[in-house]
Amino acid sequence: MKVNFYTPQREYHEKKAEFDAAISNVLESGNFILGQQVSDLEEAVKKYTGAKYAVGVASGTDALVIASDILGFKDGGEVITSPFTFLASASCLAKHNAKPVFVDIDENSFSIDADKIEEKITDKTVGILPIHLFCQMSNMDKIMSIAKKHDLKVLEDAAEAFGMRWKGNGSSYKHSGTVGDMGIFSFFPTKTLGSYGDAGMIVTNDDELGKLAKMFRVHGASKKYHYDYIGYNSRLDSIQAAILLVKLKYIDNAIQKRAQVAKWYEERLSDCEYVRFPKIEGDQKGVYYVFNILAKNRDELAAYLKENGIGNSIYYPIPLHLQKCFDYLGYKEGDFPVAEKLSKEVIALPIYPEITEDEVDCVANTIKAFYRK
Ligand SMILES: *Cc1c(COP(=O)(O)O)cnc(C)c1O
Repeated sequence: MKVNFYTPQREYHEKKAEFDAAISNVLESGNFILGQQVSDLEEAVKKYTGAKYAVGVASGTDALVIASDILGFKDGGEVITSPFTFLASASCLAKHNAKPVFVDIDENSFSIDADKIEEKITDKTVGILPIHLFCQMSNMDKIMSIAKKHDLKVLEDAAEAFGMRWKGNGSSYKHSGTVGDMGIFSFFPTKTLGSYGDAGMIVTNDDELGKLAKMFRVHGASKKYHYDYIGYNSRLDSIQAAILLVKLKYIDNAIQKRAQVAKWYEERLSDCEYVRFPKIEGDQKGVYYVFNILAKNRDELAAYLKENGIGNSIYYPIPLHLQKCFDYLGYKEGDFPVAEKLSKEVIALPIYPEITEDEVDCVANTIKAFYRK
């Protein structure tokens, strides 16, 4: 049996009539830039997440670049973040000449180790950029209390975190992206809420920041041809918004199915002594966007899975402090031992709402067969 890492066609075929109608409605309307579907999606995301403002932009990366600009993560300001993430979490800072300052991660959650943040704060520190990675949010209680104490801005990279909610010691669950000053989502096709192209969103509860985000995506214009700032051309496409509106209707069910798949993997692999699972930490509702295991002889396992038709992916093989583009920051191997260790052990298995129990069996059996060799 062949098991793909990702199969967007299954969902499309299941709801083909709905997707096709959504797309043709946009074409019939002739309104392609910031059309009705974009404002409908923004309203729907506000309702789903509880954010006061939701501003659709061209990608998760653009959302990070724009939000960093608005929050003043620039001109030599230092922003504390994790080296174990996708490039865009740190390149958004470097783009404005802010300096990414890395802090090692927690071995169980793969998220920034909040206990190590405070020692990195200097008089140049302007913000913290936590990343809610794979299946859970960072420790937002600790991060928000450090930010408050040192007067820092918090930008949540919730690119992978649609549907995740944090409670911690608070009184209620808050959706990812709405805890800090600003948050961003990516709607890249593989994400929990994924479009059929590139798309992203900025969310905030702050009136001023929300207003700026709206201006910054249209060249910094307060009204047509009146430019208050040097902004961007970064809009969420109307066709993508129409597709996302269809998917958002079914998101809770999709999240539930992902949880079921994670459970299947855990049941089938819990007796395999060569693999370990990440642990969800703190009082929160995680979402299995990615299902990772930490595996002995990871590279050989990945090759064996591939030979046997099982899709897999390695997020992330090289932590950001060891990437060539960040040479100038002066980090070296050994600076963040947990991130470096996990980058050699982590491997992501296929997970999507449409995967079948037979396919999960096949993945688990192939992993076990590898270790019996
Ligand atoms: C996907 C992702 C991004 C970037 O989103 P795009 O929409 O692909 O630009 C940023 N940060 C993290 C952690 C991501 O996983």
